[in-house]
Amino acid sequence: MSKIYIFDTTLRDGEQAPGFSMSIEAKVNFARQLAKLNVDAIEAGFPVSSPVQFEAVRQIARTVKGPRILGLARTVKADIKAAADAVKSAKKSGIHTFISTSPIHMKHKLRKTPREVLKIAVESVKYARSLNNFVEFSAEDATRSEPDFLKEIISRVIAAGASVINIPDTVGYSIPEEFGSMISDLISDVPELNDVIVSVHCHNDLGLAVANSLAGVKNGVTQVECTVNGIGERAGNASLEEIVMGLDVRKDYFGEKATQIRTEELYPTSRLLTHLTGIAVQPNKAIVGENAFAHESGIHQDGFLKHAQTYEIMKPEHVGRKMSSLVLGRHSGRHGLKKRILELGYKLNEKDFEYIYGRFIEISDKKKEVFDDDLIAILNERVKTGIELYKLDYFHISSGKNMVPTATIKLIKQKQEFKESAWGDGPVDAVYNAIDKIVGLKTKLEDYSIRALSSGQDAMGVVHVNVKHNNEVFPGSGSSTDIIEASALAYLNSLNRILVLKKLNHKR
Ligand SMILES: [Zn+2]
Repeated sequence: MSKIYIFDTTLRDGEQAPGFSMSIEAKVNFARQLAKLNVDAIEAGFPVSSPVQFEAVRQIARTVKGPRILGLARTVKADIKAAADAVKSAKKSGIHTFISTSPIHMKHKLRKTPREVLKIAVESVKYARSLNNFVEFSAEDATRSEPDFLKEIISRVIAAGASVINIPDTVGYSIPEEFGSMISDLISDVPELNDVIVSVHCHNDLGLAVANSLAGVKNGVTQVECTVNGIGERAGNASLEEIVMGLDVRKDYFGEKATQIRTEELYPTSRLLTHLTGIAVQPNKAIVGENAFAHESGIHQDGFLKHAQTYEIMKPEHVGRKMSSLVLGRHSGRHGLKKRILELGYKLNEKDFEYIYGRFIEISDKKKEVFDDDLIAILNERVKTGIELYKLDYFHISSGKNMVPTATIKLIKQKQEFKESAWGDGPVDAVYNAIDKIVGLKTKLEDYSIRALSSGQDAMGVVHVNVKHNNEVFPGSGSSTDIIEASALAYLNSLNRILVLKKLNHKR
């Protein structure tokens, strides 16, 4: 049995894609789920890039047990130092540093000669090793690099102390057969690679990220970098669930190469990511899409009913797709709610639990049955903080055709009441303008999305917003059976996060 390490970069490569920003709480939450899924490594972020990134990586390193926690760093001292500081409290930690090795990147992006790049790579790996004993080195744009130069830099950084060598197809340019033979050449020409973990990191620009990664595995790599739902820069990264199930279902082809992933957590992990980012996967997405196990055509259904394996190559239960039948209602009380929250994998302190309980009662008043999805939506509204935040107490809107939409709002902060009214393009805009008058932050609303949770007329609406402040994006979410209220809650959620961060920076 040879083990294939799963290195998850959902929180770094995935999160940096437009529209996928997550709050610190959401990232910690998701990292905890990744630990449950049993990934080997979590790339938790790019610590030097912003205070929020640094703080998220620091909190994940401090609280998430099991996987190795890594921070990304360019081959620059300040980056490496920030990554080392952010991950230092993890039981297993590491620094992932990278530099481009292709002629086009070295010449136009770095404006450096190959000799200079080689020197920087070796010095950076040495410096990183002086701060942490686990260092991964990536040769960015490896698939467009000169093979001889790539081999030289790999053997030099291994001598300098790198324990993982990553070969990325950064621009998603490779074809599986070609990528596989490149990997096999590297492994046979650089004997030092036998003493380290050899990793691949493929992008999906031609839809080949998973195929290329699996070609890598077939040709001897021992680690695959991937993201849940395949999210990531541009067309995304190789999808974790597809890699894992590819290796699992086709053991006959891959031999005894196996991951240690708990496959029953694949679907719950995918769903959680959807909740945290507000972005759903396409229905026909392999493994986790809504239709991935739906058999519609009559001929298929007939065959499936006679013998499931006629049309099914894996069982839905095996990837965690069993619909929860548990439904809560007002009568479930504190005890029932607490139990369900624990089963969903959330750990809350008393204060947070009381907040969630209050929201649960509000929702079960309007909606008889509260589903897991509803519960997860309100759990994601929490902002962990030491400061008092603005809470929505009251709102009233008037809106219609041939009239100016207006909103009156009352917010409460530290028992103090704030009232304002404003007009806007529509009722949501009017509410946001009234909130802005009270909170007084300079912000720009970047994205607004709304979707219905569960089905039926009394379904909850979940609103996701991304609000930009000082060049940083702050996500917020809110849920209610009233979409104007959900919109107000989401906006406030995001503004409160900005206020928490301001306080945090002030303390530093
Ligand atoms: Zn990438």
